[in-house]
Amino acid sequence: MIAVGDYRIDRAVEYEGPFLRPEELLIGYDPVVLERSRDWLGHTIDPASGQMRMSFHSFVLRTGRHTILIDTCMGNDKERPLRPIGHRRRTDFLGSLLGRGVKPEEVDFVMCTHLHWDHVGWNTRLQDGRWVPTFPNARYVMARTEYEHRDALHAKGDRSMHGLAFADSILPLVHAERAVVVDDDHALEDGVWLQPYPGHTPGTVVINIQSRGDRGVFAGDVLHTPLQLACPELSSIACHDPDLSYVSRRRFIEQHADTGNLVMPAHFLAPSAGHIVSRDGAFGFVDAVMPGDQRVS
Ligand SMILES: [Zn+2]
Repeated sequence: MIAVGDYRIDRAVEYEGPFLRPEELLIGYDPVVLERSRDWLGHTIDPASGQMRMSFHSFVLRTGRHTILIDTCMGNDKERPLRPIGHRRRTDFLGSLLGRGVKPEEVDFVMCTHLHWDHVGWNTRLQDGRWVPTFPNARYVMARTEYEHRDALHAKGDRSMHGLAFADSILPLVHAERAVVVDDDHALEDGVWLQPYPGHTPGTVVINIQSRGDRGVFAGDVLHTPLQLACPELSSIACHDPDLSYVSRRRFIEQHADTGNLVMPAHFLAPSAGHIVSRDGAFGFVDAVMPGDQRVS
């Protein structure tokens, strides 16, 4: 658990380990990026496979008024034939949440930074052959630009990974009247508000928090890996608009560098929270202390 003012933040992990090699994920990747920053980036690379170690987790934000789940990983039983790691998973993610003291019925809001398959999976679960909301009392909050983008693709018969995810992890929420589509700069309550950073997807938002003067931000995939702090130009193959993704990433980094704001990306390794610092003409990341989490070494 970590605190931002009076707010309390936990993370529930679905998967943490090797995922892709940097050159498979990052457009134009040059190994010199890792070599010149190996002292603080080395632990993010799996020595056996050369793959990046990445985490897929949800954050639990308790504001005192609400219990809010931020991004919901890959999910169980989803058909994702193009990504074996996400295909027909069977993991005890809900047990991980329970271990953090969160029962599904206690979640008030689920907030998705964007609607990619690895951020919406646990929105729903399979029950008697139907997809039903995993968090029965939650309102699922989505930014309008992002929802309308995916909805338009769905209407054209989108069968991509993200199209499959929209069908099995978003539309069932709409049918159950649990989905809430909001403006891209919507404020959920005092101290919790969305801010658009388009590029990775057209409607990507980050979720800002502020309590007692302390600031934090759930960054989604504006940053995938700390390599993008050492070299902010590196957008990913998953980016809808790599050039705009870079502009947004740069804006995000410059907004938060050297401020003490707690930055919580969706795929950084445990503790998955820390501070952006200026470093050697670019940027670095200093992990925050999050008791109960072990850094992968
Ligand atoms: Zn992602």
